[in-house]
Amino acid sequence: MEYISTRGNVKGIGFIDTVLMGLADDGGLLVPAEIPAVDAETLEEWRSLSFQELFLKIFSLYTNGEIPEEDLKELVNRSYASFRDPQVAPLRRIDDSLYVLELFHGPTFAFKDVALQFIGELYSYISRTRGEIIHILGATSGDTGAAAIAGVRGKEGIKICILHPNGKVSKVQELQMTTVDDANVLNLSVQGNFDDCQRIIKELFGDLEFKAKYHLRAINSINFVRILAQTVYYFHAFLQLPEEAKGRTVNISVPSGNFGNIFSGYLAKKMGLPIGKLIIATNENNILERFVKTGEYKPGEFAQTHSPSMDIQVASNFERYLYYLLNEDGAAVAERMKELQTEGRIAAEGEELRRVQADFAALGVTNGDCLETIAKYSREKGYLLDPHTACGVAAYEAHNGAGEIGITFATAHPAKFDEAISLLDIRQEFPAPISALSELPQVQTIVDNDKAEVTARLIEFFG
Ligand SMILES: *Cc1c(COP(=O)(O)O)cnc(C)c1O
Repeated sequence: MEYISTRGNVKGIGFIDTVLMGLADDGGLLVPAEIPAVDAETLEEWRSLSFQELFLKIFSLYTNGEIPEEDLKELVNRSYASFRDPQVAPLRRIDDSLYVLELFHGPTFAFKDVALQFIGELYSYISRTRGEIIHILGATSGDTGAAAIAGVRGKEGIKICILHPNGKVSKVQELQMTTVDDANVLNLSVQGNFDDCQRIIKELFGDLEFKAKYHLRAINSINFVRILAQTVYYFHAFLQLPEEAKGRTVNISVPSGNFGNIFSGYLAKKMGLPIGKLIIATNENNILERFVKTGEYKPGEFAQTHSPSMDIQVASNFERYLYYLLNEDGAAVAERMKELQTEGRIAAEGEELRRVQADFAALGVTNGDCLETIAKYSREKGYLLDPHTACGVAAYEAHNGAGEIGITFATAHPAKFDEAISLLDIRQEFPAPISALSELPQVQTIVDNDKAEVTARLIEFFG
């Protein structure tokens, strides 16, 4: 399996080099040259596998044997030993048509742990076996940073610097990042919003000389390994459905921001997982909903919502989908991305738009509807949704047809976003690792929304 860039000018890259490259050298994103197929018979054989075993099966289709099986197995087992649920991502039945896949049982209580616990182990392995210097640089709307730091803190041969928007992440997210005082961790708190942080990071990675000199590695969902690790739980969710679900259409609703998680679902579907609709759930930052409904992809006004991890206007993984929408034509992708930069918008029309609408359904959920959904499920089903998951459930309600099954991904534990929950007079109990955070001292450096200042701090830290 080789990896190529969505813009067509990087080809023939191996699996480990794909991990190390992050953003492709031509500014595009790396994708597999071909998507491996999983037939119905194989899928049936996978039904009895644990999450870890399924992970190995799926990765073995993509790694070209670059990591010996025994080593990969050890990395996977170590990655998921930190999860509080033995199933890693258990599927809960809420009622006859709704299931929730709980992805928040990792160290930082959000779905990003699933991929980032593994990437932490993988980078550490690459550092040990290839002697590569690993300097991770990332931007976060809150959860990526916490999960990335949890994945690499204290690991030999790795340093990590994370930018987060000052005061615009939840209290628990901020504490999870800034109470880590390992010497290999630097938290930069940027006086701007998430898109500002992401722009600075994109520019630094775009400077190939700088990227090579300081050995910059990505942790954001532009890294294909994150996408692939997330693909595993689409299979895992589907295979956990009970007998009674057989023969019914299964839709999956995904709280979305950077289009990473939902793109993993698109990949799973292309591999042959027989799912119906992929439902993109967003909040009032609804660029993706507008794209699916009208074909226009155009960043709008940034809104602060109850689900801050989805407060994103420029979805960095969107280009991966665009690549398939444009029939794997790298030159066409490069042209559209240039158009996005110069015109501030791109559009899918006619046949293209019809394909978008066959691939996805979408709903942008208002703050009011988000809270109402949390209240309703707490009252009627005795299940407490976090505000991101609530957007997913609201989108499921809007798009799941009669007789169909909807699996909504629970991307965070409600305790992580008590700011929203407490508006509803719902009192929740905090898991011990979360309540313990407020006792710890915080370590972070506040910087201006300025690439030069960030760069200076980086050089000082990475050396
Ligand atoms: C990151 C995050 C999302 C959005 O995921 P994308 O892969 O960026 O689409 C949704 N919910 C939570 C809780 C998150 O942390």
